[in-house]
Amino acid sequence: MFIIVGSGAGGATIAKELACVGKEVLIIERGSEIPTINASKSYNIVRSGIEIWHNICLGGTTLVSLGNAVRANIDELNDFYLEAERELNVKNVPYHHMGNATKMLLEVSSDWKVMPKHIDFSKCKSCGKCPFGCPCNAKWDSTHFIREALMRGAKLMLNSPVEKVIIRNNKAIGVKLLNGKEIFGDTIILSAGSIETPRILIRSGIDYVGDNLFVDAFITIGGIIKDKKPGLNKELNMAIFIKREDYLISPHYSTFLLQNLLSRGIKANPDDIIGLMVKIADEPIGIVSEDKVLKNLTKRDLEKLEKGKKEAEELLLRVGVDYDSIVSTHIRGAHPGGTCSKITNGYEPILESLYLSDASTIKGPFGLPPILTIISKAKKLSSILTSRA
Ligand SMILES: Cc1cc2nc3c(=O)[nH]c(=O)nc-3n(C[C@H](O)[C@H](O)[C@H](O)COP(=O)(O)OP(=O)(O)OC[C@H]3O[C@@H](n4cnc5c(N)ncnc54)[C@H](O)[C@@H]3O)c2cc1C
Repeated sequence: MFIIVGSGAGGATIAKELACVGKEVLIIERGSEIPTINASKSYNIVRSGIEIWHNICLGGTTLVSLGNAVRANIDELNDFYLEAERELNVKNVPYHHMGNATKMLLEVSSDWKVMPKHIDFSKCKSCGKCPFGCPCNAKWDSTHFIREALMRGAKLMLNSPVEKVIIRNNKAIGVKLLNGKEIFGDTIILSAGSIETPRILIRSGIDYVGDNLFVDAFITIGGIIKDKKPGLNKELNMAIFIKREDYLISPHYSTFLLQNLLSRGIKANPDDIIGLMVKIADEPIGIVSEDKVLKNLTKRDLEKLEKGKKEAEELLLRVGVDYDSIVSTHIRGAHPGGTCSKITNGYEPILESLYLSDASTIKGPFGLPPILTIISKAKKLSSILTSRA
């Protein structure tokens, strides 16, 4: 039996792939199943040097993704990327799905590119609620793969946090849950995400993991355009982007912009705000330990953010934002990865019968939406495991 720990992008994919070729699969998930529209309640915010956002629930962090689906430049994954794009129905955002604010921004620069997304645009209402959980069932999230795996006979345990891997004679033979229960299997695949997978390994006595953490750090800067009511808060975010060597810029509404405006004494209505995310591929220098996460930006990272912020500010001014109203959010990261990349690329076992399938195996710096890569890597791992099995 394959035991898979976690049901996010990496865990759900490997579970689905293995179940579809007739393997016995047990998925063990720490969180519970929640209605998609309540996804924001499952946010788990890690307060390190900068805030790191991820989710604990069935489907993991995929439930709150913005649907951005971009390949990394990894040749060996080309066939798996193709397969993943087909299954997730990846399409560029159609022009008629772009909202008012996005169209205003399109007019002030010719450098914008259209974002590919794993969203079914025949169902999407462009409501801007992706990061809270899609209310239209239009966005792919990994519960789609979990359902497929269950239909193919996989079993699922919810509310079952895994404490550690049971190891005998340098071979993984099962997992121990936090409640003390032990479950045995032939192959163990940890997919608890880049913060929790290294912690499970550390608690299992494999303590040389947890460093090389990157998070794709970002800020959102924005301000007010009173007369035009951009309404970015109620439209599909990140429908377009500008990619520079040092940073990416994309339309993004954050409730922190409103809070920051109000705290500066500027009266604001969410409909009046237009914002831009500035995201960088930060240097992978963070550390996850059993009870702490340390992640700060380097001088070079801060310079890249500052450079991106300047260009974003110019775009906001060109679109008519009142200069005195421009505010920025604090620095956050929503793509934690890399924390086990030193010991595996995701295809080789860490020790006999113990594999990883999640963002922890991606080598940083990264700087791209990781879901498509995590899925493609999981598909490749599955093909390796099934041809060996
Ligand atoms: C707001 C937001 C927007 C995003 N938008 C995008 C986007 O548009 N495109 C994109 O590519 N990426 C996006 N991301 C990032 C993306 O969602 C994650 O990088 C991806 O889901 C990580 O996959 P994973 O399998 O590594 O971990 P996760 O998807 O986080 O899954 C980990 C799973 O393990 C479970 N778990 C944790 N600990 C244990 C334990 N001890 N025992 C059992 N189970 C455990 C968790 O509950 C979870 O189900 C976004 C992230 C955020 C926060």
